[in-house]
Amino acid sequence: MTAAADCLFCKVARGEIPAGVVKRAGRLLAFRDINPQAPTHVLVVSRDHHDDIAALADADPAALTDLVQTAAAVAADEGVAASGYRLVFNSGRSAGQVVFHVHAHLLGGRGLGWPPG
Ligand code: AMP
Ligand code: ZN
Repeated sequence: MTAAADCLFCKVARGEIPAGVVKRAGRLLAFRDINPQAPTHVLVVSRDHHDDIAALADADPAALTDLVQTAAAVAADEGVAASGYRLVFNSGRSAGQVVFHVHAHLLGGRGLGWPPG
């Protein structure tokens, strides 16, 4: 599947919804979360539609590698690579996924507790 008409992040990827884009890399897009949970909170998404990280891994494993490399590059750009950052893929409703288009949350710029809530 390459796009979904009513998917929020497909609309962001098509430029139909404005976003604070910080990086474009091939089929990937990184933009600031509208409700940031940390000083750095960037979402890294594939421009093609996949429901979640497992679906992306099945359909396009190279894109999953690209996604992690793009997240690492954004972490460096944001100045959080050295101090540490977290990549989160919420998968499924009880894990907190509300947008069913694969996205990594890149969180950094503050201490991050463990275990997560
Ligand atoms: P999740 O709960 O893992 O599905 O994450 C969805 C994330 O998308 C949340 O952190 C929201 O704050 C974020 N979000 C929702 N709409 C937008 C938007 N238009 N631009 C940027 N981030 C958004
Ligand atoms: Zn989508």
